[in-house]
Amino acid sequence: MTVTGHDIVRLSLFLGLSASEMLRALDFYVLPETDDAPIGMRDIPAVHTEHGAAYVAIRKLETNECVFLSDDLCMIHQIRPGVCKSFPFVFHEKDGTTTWGLSAMKEICPGLGTGPEIMTGELEDTSTPVLRELAVYREFASEWNEKEANPTALSLIETILSDNRFTT
Ligand code: SF4
Repeated sequence: MTVTGHDIVRLSLFLGLSASEMLRALDFYVLPETDDAPIGMRDIPAVHTEHGAAYVAIRKLETNECVFLSDDLCMIHQIRPGVCKSFPFVFHEKDGTTTWGLSAMKEICPGLGTGPEIMTGELEDTSTPVLRELAVYREFASEWNEKEANPTALSLIETILSDNRFTT
């Protein structure tokens, strides 16, 4: 699952990890140039590091499972990333209007189509902070991609952890 700057800071504080230790929990996913970003990633910026222009995400194991999944439970549930809180929905904001749809990975959601109907208000409660944090991360990524001459993954995480925008 992709992460924003706020997600990275929360993860670091929750687990007590330094920037270099955070790199063991994160990965950098580069999409082939011919691929369009899947629904749900189109609003998430890629950032430049030694890995190329990549999406920062929670690391996956060889089994394709999230590194924080244990016995079908999320070990970081209290501070899980915004995309995890949103799943299976994805949110998009343009000109002050929020729209939502279903993730390209919706098939893996066991709750889809079951249980009580999700009300608009609940979606708004979830989408508002997620979209706000995404907007801050987009602003940061734009600055980072323009300014850094020889960007590294480590300096990216160090910069995010020291950026006050991600602690509010
Ligand atoms: S909810 Fe937790 S275990 Fe599931 S993908 Fe997100 S971080 Fe990983």
